[in-house]
Amino acid sequence: MERLQKVLAEAGVASRRKCEELITAGRVQVNDEVVTTLGVKVDASKDVITVDGRKIRQEKKVYVLFNKPKGVITSASDPGGRKIVTDFLEDIKERIYPVGRLDYDTEGLLLLTNDGEFANLLTHPRHHVPRTYHATVKGVPHGSLLDKLRDGIELEDGMTAPAEVDYYDIDPAKKETIVSITIYEGRNRQVRRMFDAIQFPLIKLKRVQFGPIALTGVPRGKFRHLEAKEIKELT
Ligand code: URA
Repeated sequence: MERLQKVLAEAGVASRRKCEELITAGRVQVNDEVVTTLGVKVDASKDVITVDGRKIRQEKKVYVLFNKPKGVITSASDPGGRKIVTDFLEDIKERIYPVGRLDYDTEGLLLLTNDGEFANLLTHPRHHVPRTYHATVKGVPHGSLLDKLRDGIELEDGMTAPAEVDYYDIDPAKKETIVSITIYEGRNRQVRRMFDAIQFPLIKLKRVQFGPIALTGVPRGKFRHLEAKEIKELT
């Protein structure tokens, strides 16, 4: 038996706090009875739970690592008709959604799940999951500029937290450098804005690691299921 708000959150209805509000607002029913108190426990495999009259999803939890190509939108739909991540995941029957997001032009590691609580936990600013990117720029940024990125840089939404930054590859023939950068926060377009601030706009951005999970071995546009051990390590 589990608390009703936990079952709702795990079914992806909303965050646990929002689910509590749904309960106290009288919008949740268990076996045809409205429940408005927060202590109620339910059996997610037997009880029929509805929100606003609609049955919640009580399906198997799925956790997927997807190697997102550039030019794909991290969203459940796109009115403009652009490709969306779930176009690549049609073999998965459960309704999964992305954990955080990658920009349209960013490629690499994206997690998707139908476990709302897992997604909320990993994207919560307090959780500080390290995210490592390979950022490609034209030319070679001086070490002092990498120090700036490391120490924190002023963006319009405030200073960035300390980051790990290093050269990953310098290609003199192409006159390009790949910088490896690990950040512990997930602000909108953060890595792009950090490199804009040192006047080295990105020509390519790829996420290669999220917490303990690496992208290695998953071809672009393909996915794999996370192992139970990996799910545990992430939470
Ligand atoms: N930082 C960015 O600028 N873009 C992303 O997609 C992810 C992190």
